[in-house]
Amino acid sequence: AAKGKGRNRFHYFTPEMEVLAQTRRRTLEQLREAIQRQQLEVYYQPIIDLSCGGIRKAEALLRWNHPDGQISPLQFIPLAEETGLIVEIGNWVFTEVARQSEAWARTYQVELQVSVNTSPAQYLDDHCCKPEWFEDILAQGLDPARLCVEITEGLLMEPDQTILQKLLMFRDNGVEVSLDDFGTGYSSLAYLKQFDIDYLKIDKSFVSNLSPTSHDRVLCQAIIAMAHTLGIKVIAEGVETEQQQQLLRQIDCDFAQGYFYSRPLPADQFAATWLEPDSKV
Ligand code: C2E
Ligand code: MG
Ligand code: MG
Ligand code: MG
Repeated sequence: AAKGKGRNRFHYFTPEMEVLAQTRRRTLEQLREAIQRQQLEVYYQPIIDLSCGGIRKAEALLRWNHPDGQISPLQFIPLAEETGLIVEIGNWVFTEVARQSEAWARTYQVELQVSVNTSPAQYLDDHCCKPEWFEDILAQGLDPARLCVEITEGLLMEPDQTILQKLLMFRDNGVEVSLDDFGTGYSSLAYLKQFDIDYLKIDKSFVSNLSPTSHDRVLCQAIIAMAHTLGIKVIAEGVETEQQQQLLRQIDCDFAQGYFYSRPLPADQFAATWLEPDSKV
């Protein structure tokens, strides 16, 4: 009877699901140890000021240097979010970015603001993103003006007061707030008005279809115009061509980020390319 059990069609797991669950458990175990094993690394991608072509900002993007090869955050961030591990990982990212940002400010005398991606789970955690927690980050010597937090529309959908308080905590400390992947969720611009957001990032799915005659051009133009009315600056993500850059300038977009300028780079390469006095800028 035991032998036939696995074939029972009422059994919850199919063999394929069992394999997936095992892979997931193994990946999770390895992710738990990734910090101690120093397998996590922050890459940086420049964000270009379209009015002058200079760089004042960058986005911190997490990489997992797994012994078998680098794993995309698109794969491990969701797992970290489901299991709550994102709180510890997120804390590590904040500390690392604070340390790096302070070191760059000392070495290059640049005004670079680094954006850090955050997950709703970090705001739902009891200890994370509170004033005492932020003190620890600042202990790295970081000037809060050099930090920006990126949040997703999902967070604004949470009607939780403590989340709003935590967002306000950042704002009160001089940290700017950016809304990531705008257009992929459900929030409207009118809805955004209640939240004191500094930047809105137009998702790359809209930017990739930009052409002089495309619907997405009209859509981006409308988003930018309305954002400006609300006092929000706009960053276009996923800019890959000169034509996209030109169109974004024409429709008054403030900042742009994408492979056209640079892929995300390890910290030392980023500094050599973008922060050295005789670099591109
Ligand atoms: P995101 O925050 O929307 O980041 C932008 C993504 O677009 C990055 O993918 C970046 O490498 C990619 N990208 C940049 N320019 C271009 C372009 O011109 N074309 C295309 N096709 N893609 C471009 P990445 O680095 O794989 O990160 C994926 C997502 O993982 C991020 O999306 C973010 O949601 C999440 N993530 C990354 N690091 C962290 C982190 O430290 N914490 C949290 N919570 N999430 C993170
Ligand atoms: Mg982002
Ligand atoms: Mg984004
Ligand atoms: Mg995106």
